[in-house]
Amino acid sequence: MVMIVDDEVCSANGTVVSSEESCVIVAPEPDPDGEHCQWFAFRCVDDEREGGLVRLDTQAMTWPEALDEYEVFASFDNKPWRRIGAVYSEDDERLDWWQPEGVREARYALWEPYTPSRRRRLLARMRRAHGASVIELGQSLDGEPIDAVRLGGGEQVCWVIARQHPGEVMAEWFAEGMIERLADSADPIARAVRRLATVIVVPCVNIDGATRGHHRVNAAGVDLNRSWIDADERAPEVLAVRSAIEQTGVGYFLDVHGDERTERAFAARDEGNPSYSEQIAALETRLVDRLDELWPAFDRESGYPLDAPGEGDLRCAANYVGERFGCPALTIELPFKRWTSRDARRFGHASVEALLAAIEP
Ligand SMILES: [Zn+2]
Repeated sequence: MVMIVDDEVCSANGTVVSSEESCVIVAPEPDPDGEHCQWFAFRCVDDEREGGLVRLDTQAMTWPEALDEYEVFASFDNKPWRRIGAVYSEDDERLDWWQPEGVREARYALWEPYTPSRRRRLLARMRRAHGASVIELGQSLDGEPIDAVRLGGGEQVCWVIARQHPGEVMAEWFAEGMIERLADSADPIARAVRRLATVIVVPCVNIDGATRGHHRVNAAGVDLNRSWIDADERAPEVLAVRSAIEQTGVGYFLDVHGDERTERAFAARDEGNPSYSEQIAALETRLVDRLDELWPAFDRESGYPLDAPGEGDLRCAANYVGERFGCPALTIELPFKRWTSRDARRFGHASVEALLAAIEP
């Protein structure tokens, strides 16, 4: 068997280390800033359809331990993506899985990619949907539009941004689930949210990083979620979203991410912000309580170590927006492990109900 590895896959990232008779070894490439390396996506073509071993060289990966009990995403001969078993060896620094016999063209990725055509179709549907519109907030360094979907016409303004970190692709699946429910005119929960609020969702902030197969950074190697307080021309994505928020104001803010190690979703708050108050905490708790009731794989006890008062990192979107506008602002983290795109979409769908609980008078 000779497998040809190429980049005919969305968000491609992977360099062939060696390709032999029965085994191909591929290594993910680090982000251009050199700080992170985790995302991979590549295609293996096996004209003889004999199958064989695919080995990921995990030496350079930032969170190799996250591959323990992890299952890789695969799509065989253009069939839907699903998870398949893989074996991680910490000592040998590798993740192994089998390409089955009978398969000619296999695509593999750290997580199910979100394709540009799927994004275009969603935006096209939203341009036509009643009570929804698509706004171009600005352009990325590669000249791609940074699009937002605006839904509803209520007084309160809620912003939801996703995929500042492009490898955290589940955030965009979440955004899709949220947008689709909010646009559903037959859904009473969505109708109630649209009456009370105007919700603006940015499904993919870091569009260039997504195209280029980066894990954390944009085309200039900038981590957008460490740029909110001092963004410059190297982070036009943040400048665009930030100035749009300045124009509309914001009463509730969510920033959606993925966490490599967690198995359950969780929310991080802004307890370290200088102006964090009991009132803001109570409004955040409403959302967290409802997510906890609605979603068994949400864990209110999980999270990052709490920031000491005044120690919040204002380079991060949620801290920055919470402090600037004095509003509830949460970072939602979704798991890389176990979940599929369906879980992330359905969680986005369910989150509309949690948002309603959070903004109800
Ligand atoms: Zn992130």
